[in-house]
Order: sequence, then C-alpha cells, then structure tokens
Amino acid sequence: MSSPEGAPQGVIPAQLLKGQKALVTGANSGIGKATAVALGRAGADVVVNYVAGPEEADKVVEEIASFGVRAAAYQADVSDEGQVVAMTDRMVEEFGTIDILVANAGMQRDAAFTEMTLAQWQKVIDVNLTGQFLCAREAAKEFMRRGVVPEVSRAAGKIICMSSVHQIIPWAGHVNYAASKGGVQMMMETLAQELAPKKIRVNAIAPGAIKTPINRSAWETPDAQTDLLKLIPYERIGEPDDIAHVAVGLASDLMDYVVGTTLYVDGGMTLFPGFATGG
Ligand code: NAP
Repeated sequence: MSSPEGAPQGVIPAQLLKGQKALVTGANSGIGKATAVALGRAGADVVVNYVAGPEEADKVVEEIASFGVRAAAYQADVSDEGQVVAMTDRMVEEFGTIDILVANAGMQRDAAFTEMTLAQWQKVIDVNLTGQFLCAREAAKEFMRRGVVPEVSRAAGKIICMSSVHQIIPWAGHVNYAASKGGVQMMMETLAQELAPKKIRVNAIAPGAIKTPINRSAWETPDAQTDLLKLIPYERIGEPDDIAHVAVGLASDLMDYVVGTTLYVDGGMTLFPGFATGG
C-alpha cells in the first residue's frame, strides 16, 4: 500500500500489461513486493520469487490475485543456477511463458574494506550480480524461443535490472555492494546491445534511498532521516511505490523505444547536492 507520501495507486492503468506474465525476484519484501503488486494491478500475471519468508510471499500473491489476475509464489535462490533454471522452467510450464523479468533480489553485507571477508564480498556479488545474470539469461532464452506476439507486446520480452545510485556513486564501507551495482550497469548495457535485435528490451532502474528493510538504519530514527535528507534535493525519502510505478511504465509498450537505459529514481540524489551550496 502507498504511504501518504507515496504516489497514488489510482495512476496505474488496469489493462496496461494485460496478458503479460511477469517474474519478479525478491518480491516478498520492499521494492520487489511493491513492483509485483503494481504489475498485477496493471493486469499482468505475476510470479513472486522469494528465498526465505513464504508467509510474506503468500500475502503478496493474495494481494495480486485480488486484482483478478494470476499469481504464485516460487522459492528459489537467485544465485543458484539449478534453482533459477528450475524456477523459469516451472513458470513457462505453469504460466505458458515469461514476458517481463524484474531482476530485483539484492542484499548488503557491509564492512570497512580491511575488515571485509571474502565470504561477505562473494555473497553480495553472487546474489546482486550473478543472480541477475542467471535470471536474465534464462528469461532471454524464453523470449527468443517465443518471439514477438504483437497482441501482447511490441517486444519479445523486457528485462528490468534493479540497480542503485551506487552504480555510479562510490560508497565507503560497502565496496561489495557498489561493485555489484557497477557490474549490473555494464551487464545491463551489454545485454541491451546484444539482445535489442531480438526485440528484447533490457533496462535498469537505479533507486536512491527508498524506505525498505535493506536500509532501515538510514531512515528509522529522526537523526538518521535528517542526515539522509541532506542527500536528497527533492527532500523526501522514496517509497517502494516510487520504484514500482516506474517499473510498470518501463515494462509497458508506452516505453517501447527505451533500450539500454538506466532510469535514476532518486529524488535528485545523483545531482551532487553538496554543490547546491558549495564548490
Ligand atoms: P529488501 O526489502 O531487503 O528486499 C530484498 C529482497 O531480495 C527480499 O525479498 C529478499 O528475500 C530477496 N533476496 C535476497 N537474497 C536473495 C536470493 N539469494 N534469492 C532470491 N531473493 C533474494 O530490500 P529492497 O530495498 O526492496 O531491495 C530490492 C532491490 O533494490 C535490491 O537489489 C537493492 O539493492 C535495490 N536498491 C534498494 C534501495 C533502497 O534504498 N531500498 C536503493 C537502491 C537499490 P528474503 O527476504 O526472502 O531474503
């Protein structure tokens, strides 16, 4: 649900994605959950991927089904090749195909650089970067097998990579995360170049600071909020729906000519706000 600060729900046209099948990874929480719900509201059938927390995933499925579309929860660890292949195979079997992939699952394992273990580095790269590679590869195979169905969409398929402003803003104490998102940017652009002739659109969304469990410490106290707002020219912390609504647009034919682009959805965080008064 939208918070009072979030964008209004009524803005999503109910038939925009009618007949399309969407897979959203990490969809039992935060941005993925809001995106899965918004895609369902726009008329898509939705697979809600999760790795832990089946109860939360079931609640998301219930909310999506209330729009009169089909939804199901699939458990899979996106960093595990066998589980990703099994998940996409199951979706094709049960839903017929995949039209939209939102590669959203992500995590942080923060540490000062000299304290960071190889396990912390590897886990974040495995989930945030390799996970997107595996899901995008399996989705692209299905898009190419099926090809364009003009009654459904002008594209054979759409891949939306959930990146971060930290694909371009360095982030001390988070080198694994920033490196993973920098990797997502170049992976996305390379896939977009390679797959565009097959009528597959690959793009990314780079959220700024969005209120979700991943960054609770950055917004849950008044002091933390004050510090965070100094980085956001628009002077509001983002809500999951701010990202979900952009994902719906990007997945739709309204944005059919958007290929290989990162949409920064960040209230102006990437505008170097320190330079508004300094420099
Ligand atoms: P979140 O609420 O913590 O959600 C992360 C989701 O990823 C959860 O559903 C989690 O599932 C899932 N996940 C983690 N590891 C997984 C795995 N191995 N396989 C499948 N799913 C896995 O955080 P969020 O803020 O919504 O983050 C979503 C995406 O947005 C991430 O890629 C994040 O980097 C990006 N992002 C967020 C912000 C922000 O300010 N919030 C800013 C920039 C970018 P479980 O709960 O089951 O573990």
